[in-house]
Amino acid sequence: MSHLLHRQIHHDYPVGVSGQGVYLFDAAGKAYLDASGGAAVSCLGHQHPEVLAAMHAQLDKLAYAHTSFFTSEAAEALGDELIAHAPANISHVYLVSGGSEAVEAALKMARQYFVERGETGRKHFIARRQSYHGNTLGALAVGGNAWRRQQFAPILIDSDYIDPCYEYRYRQADETAEAYGRRAADALEAKLLELGPETVIAFVAETVVGATLGAVPAAPGYLRRVREICDRHGILLILDEVMCGMGRTGTLHACEQDGVAPDLMTVAKGLGGGYAPIGATFVGKQIYDAFAQGSGLFQHGHTYVGHPLACAAALAVQHVIRRDGLLDNVETRGRQLEQALRERFDEHPFVGDIRGRGLFWGVELVADRETKAPFDAKLRLHARIKSEALARGLMVYPMGGTIDGRSGDHVLLAPPFISTADNVEVIVERLGEAI
Ligand code: PMP
Repeated sequence: MSHLLHRQIHHDYPVGVSGQGVYLFDAAGKAYLDASGGAAVSCLGHQHPEVLAAMHAQLDKLAYAHTSFFTSEAAEALGDELIAHAPANISHVYLVSGGSEAVEAALKMARQYFVERGETGRKHFIARRQSYHGNTLGALAVGGNAWRRQQFAPILIDSDYIDPCYEYRYRQADETAEAYGRRAADALEAKLLELGPETVIAFVAETVVGATLGAVPAAPGYLRRVREICDRHGILLILDEVMCGMGRTGTLHACEQDGVAPDLMTVAKGLGGGYAPIGATFVGKQIYDAFAQGSGLFQHGHTYVGHPLACAAALAVQHVIRRDGLLDNVETRGRQLEQALRERFDEHPFVGDIRGRGLFWGVELVADRETKAPFDAKLRLHARIKSEALARGLMVYPMGGTIDGRSGDHVLLAPPFISTADNVEVIVERLGEAI
């Protein structure tokens, strides 16, 4: 019997014992092609020799130093690297241990920013339905998934929700993508006016929606209009790129493709590529300045902020991506993946939509292509596809249709940036068999 509570009860897992490139191997020696990068994490695949060497070198020198006494070479170098390629207006990073911590820090920074300016009446965050921003209480509060929040409700921070920008489900037949993008963004302004803009701290959204919807990019112009609305009403824009960021969509930051720079941005998964638990909150200059001129300190902290070993791993991952031009491979293999998915599934009776960017793709499963009606959630189709794929030596990341009762099942694909043309063919072939 296992004593690990993170295992789902009543569920059998293979034991992962080793990895090599795009493959994971279980205790029986069976190989699994990692088409999901775990959960969009393993951007360099497994056991990359240069990342391991950088980690060994750091371990030989210094594994840990508490940030109330020391900074470290690894943390300083990672900070420089991230800021050198950050979106406009971002001047600092706050290094944490994962996605939820990065979101939690962003929410608190946003709140403290207004407190430093003497604006203590701002309490609300506006977020989106069918979204996921992490499992800590603050991150849960801005997650738009009602059933995840319900049982923890009285202690969550004050949030309100609008619909996500999701063309496939919400765009009308006679509406252009641009018109839909404007309409979806205008829901934010309506919500702001309803709540009173002077009571609102920030709008929180994933640049490309990952786990809950399955790689859904925003409609053209949506995020630019969101940015304008935030500016017009003096609230902050927080973009969550924990899943879609750090190269996954073909540019280092997904928001580059939308032509938008956030005030705060969160990254994690691909930052450390799975070699160490690490995340980061990117901080806009005006927020840093407010802290510097005000209390002089962000009122927050964790024991493992800027952990040297994690920073060394992330730095090595980012260096390899840049040196090997892997974002170009994300684009090339991404185009191949899109084409192969369309060839295989465009006419499939149970596939409603195929969407994504770079090496981040979602295949939406529907009971009826015309009405877009999802499968009955009781079928747990996503879980069955996951096991069917695993049985065929393929890791994919499917999600199910219980989210506000609005969306059905989808399969998320997020293969490593080092994937080859052969890997992409095998992924689509085995996924087809599993479906
Ligand atoms: N934000 C987004 C967009 C995510 O996809 C996730 C994880 N799936 C998180 C935050 C939380 O990250 P973590 O699991 O590392 O806490």
